[in-house]
Amino acid sequence: MTTTAPATTQLHSDVTEFLSKQPHKLLIGGQWKEAVSGKTFDTYNPATSEAIAKVAEADKKDVDEAVKAARKAFEGPWSKVTPSERGRLLYKLADLIEAHADELAQLETLNNGKTIRESRKGDLPLAVDLFRYYSGWTTKIHGETIPVSVPYAPGAKFFHYTVREPVGVIAAIIPWNFPFLMAIERLAPALACGNTVVLKPAEQTPLSSLRLGELILEAGIPEGVVNVVPGFGPTAGAALAAHPDVDKVTFTGSTEVGREIIKASAGNLKRVSLELGGKSPNIIFADADIEAAVKGAFMGIFYNQGQCCSAGSRIFVEKSKYDEVVEALVAKAKTVRQGPGLDSTTHMGPLVSQEQLDRVTGYVASGKKEGAKLLCGGERGDGALSKGYFLKPTVFVDVKDEMKIAQEEIFGPVATVMPFESTEELVARANGTVYGLVAGIWTKDIKKAFRTANALRAGTIWINCYNFVDSAAPWGGYKQSGYGREKGPYALELYTQLKSVWVDLN
Ligand code: NAP
Ligand code: MG
Repeated sequence: MTTTAPATTQLHSDVTEFLSKQPHKLLIGGQWKEAVSGKTFDTYNPATSEAIAKVAEADKKDVDEAVKAARKAFEGPWSKVTPSERGRLLYKLADLIEAHADELAQLETLNNGKTIRESRKGDLPLAVDLFRYYSGWTTKIHGETIPVSVPYAPGAKFFHYTVREPVGVIAAIIPWNFPFLMAIERLAPALACGNTVVLKPAEQTPLSSLRLGELILEAGIPEGVVNVVPGFGPTAGAALAAHPDVDKVTFTGSTEVGREIIKASAGNLKRVSLELGGKSPNIIFADADIEAAVKGAFMGIFYNQGQCCSAGSRIFVEKSKYDEVVEALVAKAKTVRQGPGLDSTTHMGPLVSQEQLDRVTGYVASGKKEGAKLLCGGERGDGALSKGYFLKPTVFVDVKDEMKIAQEEIFGPVATVMPFESTEELVARANGTVYGLVAGIWTKDIKKAFRTANALRAGTIWINCYNFVDSAAPWGGYKQSGYGREKGPYALELYTQLKSVWVDLN
């Protein structure tokens, strides 16, 4: 384990300027407003635990205003923008995000802790691509004509067509692990389909959503089309989920809160789509390219400090290669350079918050208590890192399938490595949690790869690769990892509804 003193990183002048606009306000109906209550909350730099900005705290009253503004824009100016013009506006926003990518990546790293390499090379380019991808869809969302015949009206002639229309006002409630990307993943398809949005970022990471709000206005997207209301889950989030004039909630977060969202949605039967947690298996067969598999398994669990819904947290290794893989993973973990995400030499940043650090160290303690063996990590960073929420990359062996650390989502840099003997046994164990988001398979045997992929109950399967995503490829979970598919043409189903029109020709 190598640790470094925080390197002095020059903040982009646009980041400094943005941070100086304190307190940051809510974006409602194209205006920057203080919360009705006048309340603000602090947001932190997880690498140092220092407060970096004050942000207006939205609650029910602000949510009401934001929903009103979104409804007004939906029925007014936004409905008059042609699909072609909508596409141009989204493309322009993509260009603006790209032009500000250095600044946005720094802001994201500062507020979330993730390394600048990940935010600049991963999150930002993916976000730009999503807006470009969906800007192309605006002119291709249309209905059909259907040759109808009616048994109780023999010979009667009708012209029948369908119209694909937007759903209306969308509430987007998102988590802190990929704050900017999660906002974009909801906004791009929702806006492309002609909806308006009220976005509630996670309490830990509001800054990049607020900066995005500025760029949305700069792009010329009409006021009220996107409203940004930072605040807390039980107040702002719950008010959105229960709001009678919200037509749909798109939620990304924990399975536990997902259940709350469904309950809250019952009042007006709003639509709900859910992207929830995971406890994903990453499976290494003995005939795999072991070097590539170790690299993939390592990145699969430690990317973004393990705070990925897709984290490959259960690494299954065929028995004959088990010791070799464990040894390689531990050796790799010990060379990880932890430090502030803004330092370009950092491999791994801090967790997002004290709460998350406590949650993850709680799981480490539970693993030890239940008899698993800790081979490395499990403790906080030392020296200069002790001020931030750093946790050393952690590897457990001697793990039983029924242990908490093998069943529950930890959402931190904690790998459990488990041996298996037969494919049948492996498939049952790999499928043996309530989740079903993703799975990885490493083997050179093509039949084994496909057979295993067919048997796994997960929304995404990666064969001899891991953590690849694209704007066009569907994303979503089986089982308690959620429902609905984001991305690609699949998201258009989530953000539109069909109207069926009959015309009498008799
Ligand atoms: P979380 O606690 O479930 O929160 C997600 C969002 O919901 C936050 O904005 C949160 O506000 C809000 N919220 C909390 N309670 C609420 C309530 N009662 N009503 C309405 N909104 C409420 O999740 P998190 O801790 O931020 O993120 C980690 C989880 O997200 C993990 O389980 C992870 O797997 C999942 N995730 C899934 C995907 C995917 O694509 N499947 C992607 C990323 C993350 P606060 O910020 O105030 O809590
Ligand atoms: Mg939370």
